[in-house]
Amino acid sequence: MAYKTSLMVPKEKPRYNSICSDDELLDDEMDCYESISEKRGSWIDDLGSISTQNSIYLPTRGFVNAPPPREDPASTLIAVIKMGWLDKNPPQGSLIYQRRWVKLDAEYLRYFDTEKDIYSKRIIPTASITGVINVGDQKFEVVTHNRTFLFRAESDAERSEWVTVLRSCVGASRTQQSMDLTFNPCVTSEMKGYLELRGLRSKLYTVVCADKVFLYKSTEDYRLGIGITSIDMNVGNVKEVAGRAFDLTTPYRIFSFVADTEQLKDQWVEAMRDSIAEALSNYEVAERIWSLPANQICADCGTAKPEWAAINLGVVFCKRCAGEHRGLGPSVSKVRSLKMDKKVWTEDLIQLFFTLGNERANEFWAANVPPSEALMVSSSSEERRRFITAKYREGKYRRYHPLFGNQRELNNALCINVQSNDVCETLALVFCGADVNCDTDDPDLPCPIALAQYHGQNLQVEFLTQNRNTELPRSEVDVAIDTVHYMAPPSITHNGFLFKTGSMARPIAEKKGKEEFSRRWCVLNDGHFSYYESDKNATPNGGLKMKEIVCLAVNPPETHGYDHTFELYSDSERLYLFGTDNPEIAHEWVKSIAKSFIPVTAEVLLLKDFQRIGRLRYKDGLNLETSRLGWFCLVGSNLHICLEQQNRDETIDLQKLLELSIQPDNDVLVLVERGRTLYIEGERKLDFHGWATAIQRAAGSSGDTLSLQQLTEADIPVIVERCIHFTTQYGLTSEGIYRKSGVNSRIAALLEEFRRNARCVWLKEGEHQVDDVSNVLKRFFRDIEEGLFGQQADNWLSTTGFSDESMRISQYNLLFSNLPRVNQATLRALMNHLYCVQRFSDLNQMNLHNLAIVFGPTLFQTDGKDYNAGRVIEDLIQHYVTIFDVNEQQLKRQLDEITYIIKLRENLNPKAGPASGDFICTVYLEEKRETAEQHVKIPATMTAAELTFEILDRRKISVKEKDYWCCFEVNDKEETERPLHYQEKVLPIVHSLGTDSYLLLKKYFSMEAMLVYLASKVEVSKHGMMKFKEERNLLGLSTGSFHDRYFILTNTSLRLYKDVRSNRPEREWSIKCLKVYHGIKKKLRPPTCWGLTVVYESEKQEKQERQHWYLCCDTQTEMREWFATFMSIQNGGRVWPAEWLKSRSASRSAPLDSRFGNVSLIPLRGSENEMRNSVAAFTADPLALFRNA
Ligand SMILES: [Zn+2]
Repeated sequence: MAYKTSLMVPKEKPRYNSICSDDELLDDEMDCYESISEKRGSWIDDLGSISTQNSIYLPTRGFVNAPPPREDPASTLIAVIKMGWLDKNPPQGSLIYQRRWVKLDAEYLRYFDTEKDIYSKRIIPTASITGVINVGDQKFEVVTHNRTFLFRAESDAERSEWVTVLRSCVGASRTQQSMDLTFNPCVTSEMKGYLELRGLRSKLYTVVCADKVFLYKSTEDYRLGIGITSIDMNVGNVKEVAGRAFDLTTPYRIFSFVADTEQLKDQWVEAMRDSIAEALSNYEVAERIWSLPANQICADCGTAKPEWAAINLGVVFCKRCAGEHRGLGPSVSKVRSLKMDKKVWTEDLIQLFFTLGNERANEFWAANVPPSEALMVSSSSEERRRFITAKYREGKYRRYHPLFGNQRELNNALCINVQSNDVCETLALVFCGADVNCDTDDPDLPCPIALAQYHGQNLQVEFLTQNRNTELPRSEVDVAIDTVHYMAPPSITHNGFLFKTGSMARPIAEKKGKEEFSRRWCVLNDGHFSYYESDKNATPNGGLKMKEIVCLAVNPPETHGYDHTFELYSDSERLYLFGTDNPEIAHEWVKSIAKSFIPVTAEVLLLKDFQRIGRLRYKDGLNLETSRLGWFCLVGSNLHICLEQQNRDETIDLQKLLELSIQPDNDVLVLVERGRTLYIEGERKLDFHGWATAIQRAAGSSGDTLSLQQLTEADIPVIVERCIHFTTQYGLTSEGIYRKSGVNSRIAALLEEFRRNARCVWLKEGEHQVDDVSNVLKRFFRDIEEGLFGQQADNWLSTTGFSDESMRISQYNLLFSNLPRVNQATLRALMNHLYCVQRFSDLNQMNLHNLAIVFGPTLFQTDGKDYNAGRVIEDLIQHYVTIFDVNEQQLKRQLDEITYIIKLRENLNPKAGPASGDFICTVYLEEKRETAEQHVKIPATMTAAELTFEILDRRKISVKEKDYWCCFEVNDKEETERPLHYQEKVLPIVHSLGTDSYLLLKKYFSMEAMLVYLASKVEVSKHGMMKFKEERNLLGLSTGSFHDRYFILTNTSLRLYKDVRSNRPEREWSIKCLKVYHGIKKKLRPPTCWGLTVVYESEKQEKQERQHWYLCCDTQTEMREWFATFMSIQNGGRVWPAEWLKSRSASRSAPLDSRFGNVSLIPLRGSENEMRNSVAAFTADPLALFRNA
């Protein structure tokens, strides 16, 4: 091929269809080659070597002589769609084109120096290509989010062929996850960081990920997904060299790396060796599945060597089809990798794919595919999506079973068929509507799975288990199929002058003066926002596509030199700042821009007066597996959300969040609301940072008025509630409470702490002083803007002018009803508190009048001379019941509780020093009901047996020998419970209980059977199969399903084996670190109801680790035996006291007085009514505890 390696082209400004700012020169294509050679000297020196055979960016010294000209093993897996010579555009400043060998497969566009090269100069995931554009002269542009690659073909025909194939790849699996070179979201990189490559001055960002090593020029490139090359580790070998150096040898090249430290070198070597091991073993499953000829091509499009499978559908498919399968959701298609999800591939599952597999599964799924709809290797992602949705979600091409539509017959047929080995028939039945979980009418074998199991049909069991929760094909699909992108809203047009600064890659921290802005004529038209030097110019200086905008933020007035400014964030992580002094112009632009990038489905957000609007990925509730796209807007302290596939918006009141935190490792913002947790992911750094900051600010005490504080569910500022609460517990007997001044510096510090983040301030006796806290409350009210009574304060004050009491009351009533919501709730809570305080004035000397003198000026923020302020407060406290329409029954109950608290505290020895930690705890009897509450003081020495007897005694419950009363730790959220061992100390358990947990006393019905079982054993140990599931990281993408594993439990450890024949355990845990609970939460879909949840707490102090995993037994007996074995081993063989009833009387004779150490009435459960709840049980008979004393 006669070809000139360099051509002169006229110098012209490169053309970009993407962002291009006039204020900065976008880098030209930053090839690694250029930058590296630049550092070596002048890049021009190297021009002559462009056509040499060695790859220039890699040093030649590591080259292996005469590499075998065999095919790249990786390329056998992924079909090359097109390859050939192209000219690539010159680097910046140069006029000379570079000749490149370009190779395109479904995943990557790569170019090489020569056709023989194995390692590319540049690797661009097709998923990151946003457009392919013809630009004349046989040239075309490949556009990615941040960079445009210009190529030139030899002829127009060649050019149009490239453009066509490239376009067909564009948009294929264009989800954001696949932006990464490391397509599979289940795989996280094992190691990444900078490494020096011998011979190069600049370090390369190196990523070891699964079975590959990727080289990038920089972290920036890594994040954008554009790399230099990838190294398949199945041909790799790692050799340590002296010092910090090591070699990665492949048949084609030696990569001589130098790590920063020797320690890091060790880590790199280990990571790469792991990667090699993984690469080698990864082929095991794939090779086996491919041994069936039909499984060697994609079930949907025919691409060779498909590496993905739907384990519930029984088909194997290629990566591009896998993207569309994933889009169907796991309830339709459970997508797993043959190479990477190794653990999923049990022997049964592999056998199932021999039985079903592409050929037989397609006999069902693709029985009626019209040729016009069939996919080809080259089909576009649009076509794939349409076909795969029709095929599996709608069941459009399936072979209908003769019994279709007859549910009873289908179920019946299923029950019969699962006893045979005909899995294909089962597939047909299930996907034509037979119910996998149907009733068999056999109580011993209640479901088809049990039937199949009983008949030894493992593959049937496997298939049914995989489809336990599968959604049936249905043709009436009401959800939008295109979930990744959205409908472009109708075209919006707007134009005018705005002032603009240069775009930025980091958040704006400083005020931008007017001189930093330039006046630009801005045009919003047809989905483009462009800006021009003036309205006379025809060529824009730069601009943005609307679909590139991910966030629009409106700054508070006067943030910058121009009064009104707003920021646009692009998905390539640029920030654009615009400003104007005219509020209307700013408002118009904000509305127009928002309208043109917010999709129709989220347009309800446009009606809000937002400070920030845009798209983010999130996970929540039942959907922790995959993140979804949501449209968010922030209005004051409310975050409005339009979640994907939901046509309504939701609102989160950020000030009422229970928790708000950022997980720094993975840039996730965690918002915990009552009832749900939302995880917002930092998909891009720049706009995420903006969101996180804005949300945190909005969730804090964002202002000086009552309603801008962090609030409780009941709309009371958190600070008010916490102070009242503390004073009620510890201050009601304190003489002169609210009149005495605390320590000024401490008060100021505490108040500041509350202002910063009230939710995180926990008041504790010993740490905080009653007088400090009471003064914090007063100072809060004194400082609050507008005061508690708001703008109508004067009307309240003048009400005292009415001499008639009932007139005053009805006037207060009226004024109260006119107060804003938060003020109402706060005033009511405060008056309730003050009412209680004065009811105990014999102890604290703060009667009605004294309180009124203190609180009048405080609440009305007067100087103390207005006598009316005190009178209003006096009225409000005195007529508290009438004015606030209080339920007297409740009030009495509350006062009884306080009496109880005081009585308990009176029993303390005031000179005994700080509280030694007895706790008052609520224990439920038999079930969690208010009337079943028992209130018990738990001294440090109390055992579970003592607690049990105390409550039984108190309720006068007589106990028989075989009544195994036991105290359980119950967790409602996890749906688990654990019987405490009779000798177990209760107090540490009480301390560790979360808000979802409580103690419950009930008979332990399994105990008898467990004791019988243990008595029959000579040595306590157990082994056998259980179904096992591990809870990975809460945010992990896959929690997997239950798998059969073999377990051995000895008196030191629990060991897990892959199967019975394995001779080396996969995992081993020390028995001391395990806590075993009955039950598994239903959300995890345990295969049987005989489950155990095991909590592992690592012994290592420095890193508290808590893991959950789940064991599922086939029968109740099995489960009891495992549990009994655990209990016996963990308690040295003592599971139940030998002389149960005798131990009872022993406990009884223990003098109760000894337990009255220092009672610390720290609330145990963090609800707003914690005090009330925790003491409530006593109100019926508050003194019961003292009776035995
Ligand atoms: Zn395919």
